[in-house]
Formats: sequence, C-alpha cells, structure tokens
Amino acid sequence: MEFSLIDRIRELTAQTREDVRLGIGDDAALLRVPDGQELVVAIDTLVEGVHFPLGTAAADIGWKALAVNLSDMAAMGAAPAWALLALTLPNGEAAFVDDLAAGFAQLARQYRLALVGGDTTRGPLALSVAVHGLLPSGHALLRAGAQVGDAICVTGTLGDAAAGLELLRAGGGADAHAAYLVERLHRPTPRIDAGLALRGQAHACIDVSDGLLADLGHICAASGVGARIDASLLPFSPALLNVFGAHAAREFALSGGDDYELCFTVPVDRATALQSNRVQLGCAATVIGHVVEGSGVHAYDGDGRELALERRGWDHFRA
Ligand code: ADP
Ligand code: MG
Repeated sequence: MEFSLIDRIRELTAQTREDVRLGIGDDAALLRVPDGQELVVAIDTLVEGVHFPLGTAAADIGWKALAVNLSDMAAMGAAPAWALLALTLPNGEAAFVDDLAAGFAQLARQYRLALVGGDTTRGPLALSVAVHGLLPSGHALLRAGAQVGDAICVTGTLGDAAAGLELLRAGGGADAHAAYLVERLHRPTPRIDAGLALRGQAHACIDVSDGLLADLGHICAASGVGARIDASLLPFSPALLNVFGAHAAREFALSGGDDYELCFTVPVDRATALQSNRVQLGCAATVIGHVVEGSGVHAYDGDGRELALERRGWDHFRA
C-alpha cells in the first residue's frame, strides 16, 4: 500500500510530548493544558503568489508557514507547544510534500513543537498553520499597556525581508549579502526566546509583520499613547546597508513587512539591562525611541527633523 501523504507528514514531523495524549490519526487530537497555564492560540495563512513568490522552495514554504505563527506566540510571550496544518495542494506530489514537511519540521524541532493534526485538500497552493502555546495565567504580553516614558525597542534588524523581496523582484543579487537578505525573507527567525525573556518585563509587545510603522501604530492605538522614533537608531544588517545603502534601508525598515522581529516597550531603566542580555533574548535588542503622550507614530532623523511618512505598511486590501 502506498505511504499516504498524511503518513509522510507524520513521520517527518514526529515529536514526542507528554502533553499530547493523541496526535495525528484520529478524528481530532487530545491535548493536556497544565494547571495554572493559559492556552494561547493563533492562525495564519500563506497563499502562493500573495505571501510567498511563485517558485519558492517547498522547504522554505514549510518553514515560513510555521515561523509566522511562532512569531505570534513570541509576541505574546508564549512557549509554543502544538500545531495544526491545513494544506491545500494543486497535486499530491510526494517529493513536494516531503520537502515542505521537512522545512516545517526543521523549525518545529527547535521548540519541541508537535504537529498534532491538520487537513489536506486539493486546490491552489496554500497553508494555514494554527499554533498553540502555553504561558502562566495572566502573564501574556499584550499590545495594550505601553506607558508614556517607556523605551521602544526592537529585536534583531529591520528591513531585511522587504529588501530580499525587492531583490527577487528585480531578479538580481547573487553575492553573499543578497543571499542573506533573501534568506531573511524565506526563513524568518521567530523571536521565541526574546518573548519568553520579556514576560514580566515589557509593558507592550507586537511582532513586526506589516512594517514597523504599522505594527508600532497598533501598540499606540491599543495603549492610547504616541510613539517617537529616532530613525538614526534603527538597527540594520550589514547586508542591507551594503546592498541598498542607508536611505533605502530606512524605508525598508519603517514600511517593509515580513521581518518578524519583536517591537516592545519597557521602562527606560530596564531597557539597558535588556540590551546587554543578548544570550537570554537570543538576539540583539535596540532602543529606537520612546512612548509619548498623544497618538500615532512620529519618526525623526538624526538632526531632529520629522520625517514625512506616507507608506504605512502592507495592507492586503489596499487599492
Ligand atoms: P477527517 O476526515 O476525520 O478529517 P482526515 O483524513 O482529514 O480525516 O485526517 C486524518 C488524520 O490526519 C487526522 O488526525 C488529521 O488531523 C490528520 N491530518 C490530515 N491532514 C494533515 C496535515 N496536512 N498535517 C497534519 N495532519 C493531518
Ligand atoms: Mg479532515
């Protein structure tokens, strides 16, 4: 008998967890939430040609579909535990599914995340991953909670993914810097360790999926505050600066999407300690501005001149 697609996915993503009473194979999964913990759930869909370019490698698609969901867990301060995968495939090509499952599993293993079920249907290529995480009750990091005077910080570097997409569109860039930027687009790193380290530290947190201006704008709206950003403090990768230069880097960082870094606010006195705590965060953290009274995000250059901000990030339904 042919090894079914679901069996292949189960084999490739196998992960033992004591809190999984029943995984793939029955009508539904049975999972145990420990006493004193809250279940944190999120779902995100990736559609070919919309969220990843045609021709993206199957392993990259599998990685990214999980990564964008883990990023939502990170933004809440949750530890990822389980996922469901709804897969829509144009055909049942086994090699494609194997590669996709391998890319998914490569990231899942890093967090001992178990794939406990899903659904498989025929149609234009699309993946929905529902991820489930855990955190001690009452300790979630929310968008609301930023306080006037807080430092605004971001993890890692900004603008790389948008620059990578620009390189793919232009069909160019074959050096190591270009490859790094394209890798940042296809294989974002969810900042799970940073999210865990920020529990009890950050006043507000969000992941940067639609661009810093748009996502920091969500923190401001939810918290009833404004944000003042010093654009000269934005963290850029050497690759981004090398390929595109400082001016374009700033545009990519403010308005480009798909970075999946965390943007969070903390009391100023905690920001310094966090910045030097690279090991626990799993990455760098950089102070880029402050929470102010008022509303909306305002960005200034190094000389204190306010920047005219037009593009406000990625909106699927914008004309
Ligand atoms: P049902 O008709 O009961 O929904 P399915 O054939 O859709 O049964 O699924 C059988 C089992 O395989 C279920 O446990 C389901 O969760 C799992 N499953 C189906 N598709 C996937 C997938 N793409 N990834 C992981 N598990 C899957
Ligand atoms: Mg089903």
